[in-house]
Amino acid sequence: MNKLKMASEKSASRVLMLLSQLERLNEEPKVSDNDAIRQTTGKILHLIQTQEKTRKEVASKSSGGMEIILSSLENTQDLQTTLNILAILNELLTVGGGCRTGVFVSKGGTALLLQLLVGSSKDPPANEELMLHIHSLLVKVGLKDRKLGVKARLNGALNVTLNLVKYNLQNHKLLLPCLQVLRVYSSNLVNAVSLGKSGTLEIMFEIIGPFSKKSTTLLKVALDTLASLLKSGMNARRAVDRGYLPTLLTIYQDWHRNDTRHRHVVIRKSILGCIKNLTNIKLGRKAFIDANGMRILYNTSTECLPVRTLDPLVNTSSLIMRKCFPKNRLPLPTIKSVFHHPLLHIPASGPVAKLYNQPPGVDDVVDESDENEATEVDTENDTEYDEDETGPKTQNDDIETDINKLRPIQMNTRPFDELRAYEYFFREFSENFELHRPIIIPTTPSSLGPQNRRPPQEDLLTPKPDESPLELDSISISKRPEGTSDPDLVCSLGRLVLDAGVNGGSVDGPQDEGGEQAVLEVPDTAALLPLHDPDLYLEMVKSTRSVPAYTEVGYPDYFGHVALNLREPILERVYGVQRTKIFQDIERLIHPSDILDKVVYDLDNQSCPVTDNGESLKFNSKFESGNLRKAIQVRKFEYDLILNSDINSNHYHQWFYFEVGNMRPGVRYRFNIINCEKSNSQFNYGMQVLMYSVQDAINGSPHWVRTGSDICYYKNHFSRSSIAAGGQKGKSYFTLTFTVTFQHKDDVCYFAYHYPYTYSMLKMHLQKLSALRTAQIYYRQDDLCETLGGNSCPLLTITAMPGSSSNDPISQFRSRPVVFLSARVHPGETNSSWVMKGTLEYLMSCSPQAQSLRESYIFKIIPMLNPDGVINGNHRCSLSGEDLNRQWQNPNAELHPTIYHAKSLLQYLRATGRTPLVFCDYHGHSRKKNVFMYGCSIKETVWQTNVNTSTCDLHEDLGYRTLPKLLSQMAPAFSLSSCSFVVERSKEATARVVVWREIGVQRSYTMESTLCGCDQGKYKGLQIGTSELEEMGAQFCLALLRLKRFTSPLELHNHNSHLLDMETDLIETRSIPNITSPTTYVLEEDEPAFLEEVDYSAESNDEIDPDLEHDLQDNHKSFS
Ligand SMILES: [Zn+2]
Repeated sequence: MNKLKMASEKSASRVLMLLSQLERLNEEPKVSDNDAIRQTTGKILHLIQTQEKTRKEVASKSSGGMEIILSSLENTQDLQTTLNILAILNELLTVGGGCRTGVFVSKGGTALLLQLLVGSSKDPPANEELMLHIHSLLVKVGLKDRKLGVKARLNGALNVTLNLVKYNLQNHKLLLPCLQVLRVYSSNLVNAVSLGKSGTLEIMFEIIGPFSKKSTTLLKVALDTLASLLKSGMNARRAVDRGYLPTLLTIYQDWHRNDTRHRHVVIRKSILGCIKNLTNIKLGRKAFIDANGMRILYNTSTECLPVRTLDPLVNTSSLIMRKCFPKNRLPLPTIKSVFHHPLLHIPASGPVAKLYNQPPGVDDVVDESDENEATEVDTENDTEYDEDETGPKTQNDDIETDINKLRPIQMNTRPFDELRAYEYFFREFSENFELHRPIIIPTTPSSLGPQNRRPPQEDLLTPKPDESPLELDSISISKRPEGTSDPDLVCSLGRLVLDAGVNGGSVDGPQDEGGEQAVLEVPDTAALLPLHDPDLYLEMVKSTRSVPAYTEVGYPDYFGHVALNLREPILERVYGVQRTKIFQDIERLIHPSDILDKVVYDLDNQSCPVTDNGESLKFNSKFESGNLRKAIQVRKFEYDLILNSDINSNHYHQWFYFEVGNMRPGVRYRFNIINCEKSNSQFNYGMQVLMYSVQDAINGSPHWVRTGSDICYYKNHFSRSSIAAGGQKGKSYFTLTFTVTFQHKDDVCYFAYHYPYTYSMLKMHLQKLSALRTAQIYYRQDDLCETLGGNSCPLLTITAMPGSSSNDPISQFRSRPVVFLSARVHPGETNSSWVMKGTLEYLMSCSPQAQSLRESYIFKIIPMLNPDGVINGNHRCSLSGEDLNRQWQNPNAELHPTIYHAKSLLQYLRATGRTPLVFCDYHGHSRKKNVFMYGCSIKETVWQTNVNTSTCDLHEDLGYRTLPKLLSQMAPAFSLSSCSFVVERSKEATARVVVWREIGVQRSYTMESTLCGCDQGKYKGLQIGTSELEEMGAQFCLALLRLKRFTSPLELHNHNSHLLDMETDLIETRSIPNITSPTTYVLEEDEPAFLEEVDYSAESNDEIDPDLEHDLQDNHKSFS
């Protein structure tokens, strides 16, 4: 053993001796030394080849071996010496991984090799062994030196390697390393263009070929090289011109057929990689279609589907097919909304003017420039398991960095005389309660805004006089029995029968005339739905004005919805659903004869009679909030559905609500909403659509139910032009697909994006709520203004009546802080209305907590900021074609009346020293789970931008955090970690930011409720329902009650001892472990400076007190 050790030490020292010998020879080169160098390097090579230890010795930094060897390589003119050194380097770099290669690169080895390569190519034929060594080394260097490609081009080495490949096609030993180097070179785009010009594509096609078990490594490298080259558009065009696309398809088919044991999946994937890059250009896609590529890849993929290990092939094929699927415009005359609402005043630069000044035919699809699409398609990939795409980068770009824009502004641009008109809406402050007892609250049943208001009318409990432009006759229930000629449906309601089967009749057929005897069974929901009354609902519908002048009523809105007493779990996504659906779409192109393409519903062509052979579903959405534009039967049990654009716009649609009839039970129907716009959706993460069955309702289950299987959401082949999309390039649409099996024959079912909540429903609820008034409750409903569509916008005032009429209670009444709430500025966010319903119901309830809450605040509530949008089935906008929540900075009284007057109310409050304590606008969020809030904080915004906080000496009250914190403790659906208090530039005209900056409301929020469900808390894993949303609204009230303690100076004196805990509490708040987004909570290291400036008067401790526990339990009971 000692002997062995000594031997190895001896050899080690020998190698060091040889190295120093070599070093000396390098320093004083003499011609006579050639032999010596040759011998020395030969000896080193021998040692290295035989003993690993010597390799370490040479490569170690202390020995300086690498420098000495490279220096010899640089100096020598002798071929054998060069070969020796290259062999040494190859030995050294083969083992020891990237580390030794890194040293080699850092000592300038790359350049040396390239110079050697170019130099020795000058007098051909080049020495094969030399070339082999150089290229083997370059392959290794390529893994470590990212600039190898650029260096090679600058040294003129590209063509040397290319020529070697060209002349050594049969010499695989040399060909392989050269090809490998070429693969590295071609990953650089400039190199790829240059190599393409030199004929590299053609050479690659000499190497790749039909199935063969021989030289598969070589083939793989050639294919990868080719794929890299084809990333250049110029090369791709060249390849298409040479007819290479059909060749690649043929080669792919050959490998697919012969590689029966799937030993060469990588090669097959590489062939597809070439096709994929080739089809990034328009010409390539055309060649692909011409070469029958769709059918070829479709057939091969179908055969691959059963073998899971072939998934990469199926996925890449699917990607190519989707890309090549000819882009098409939607089958519509125009993507502008079917309905047009003329505006009195159209600002020239506004969206409506722009829309209607567009040239005709502008919706037409344009196959946009190749480059754009290439990048788009590449980044898209398969979205099967993509995370929700809210890129933190774009969010960060959006953060407001201008401190001046973050500071509150004191704008008193409006003279108070102008605001004085709004005094009318604050009559409670001047009311002399002594004068009339029992108290009758003045209420204006219709409206008119401050300018043309009427004298207050005395009682709201009697129904308003009917001011409806519609005749009673013209209201009809949406689904009329076939053959009913009587349009007087309100009268016929009592004898309307939906289906003979329901009533035990034996008549078959879609719907039959029930005659005088038949009775429409309205589910008795009075006990379960105290705020619902079908007859009252119809009354309300009559005074609701829609642009299409709807005369029908959706059954669910008429019957009412009772929350389902069942858990509805968030669906787990089934593997491969999207792929299967996409393949079915591709089949349309491959088997066009299977496609019916039968239009069964068309708002654009209402006169067109739909032939009814009993084989098609019947669609309808001509009722409030409905928005189906067209339905096309694609296959026997599959329908493409198109949603209408928001009125006076050509997009924004996402919300849907429509009716389906004439179904066969037990059959799987596939529905595709093909013009969705958002790039991703909770439908990819377990959310289901909502369905309401009229038969179930009549049979005692009037529920909206989460339904549908095989749900997914993906980009489709429909597109609109860049002009129509208002951007740089055309935009693709997305498909939401879901499959439903109906339970009953001759049922009428409704589908919706989320639980519908119409404007008429709000009016009904308000009327029912007003009836809940007691002597203790002050409830007043005013009409804030009239909307563009001629509907009124209700404004509610809720508080407690003063304790008595003596001075003190009156002054307590008048000193109550104002809480200002609003909802439904975005019509598609119906969940916000359900949360609002929960809030209103709580505020009108008779529990002691509710009374205490009313005694604490005066509530000013606008429950629906966008009635017109809601009525007409819009998703986002009002009739002005604009998002009203982007108009708060500068609302126009004519175009945005509800926003203009809502802001005026707030300005009035500020001007009279009654700036609200809390402002909250309820919204719905389509891409996130849970309920959460956005607030405004200068500090948190500044931290996000990484500006040194010490440079801006900001003092900020922490009060904005209290309410969300309380909610997270009290409301099970609420998630504090999803909250954000950052002010984004893109949100500067929203209610939240404007009310914060201009009105000076520190606690100004947007509360977002998920459309999908929760991933934390008590409802974790469940989809959200109306009872959870209503509960949220009630919990919001309870949180306000708790907030009182933190904000009332009087209370603070009594709770001083608790304040000491607040600091710990805050720290705990800030160190929430699961930080979900960069704009959410700041990290702990940002904390210390902040804590010093905490304003303790604003907050108190947050430990759960027994009172609260009690409140919570009470509340849970009322919702269970
Ligand atoms: Zn919204």
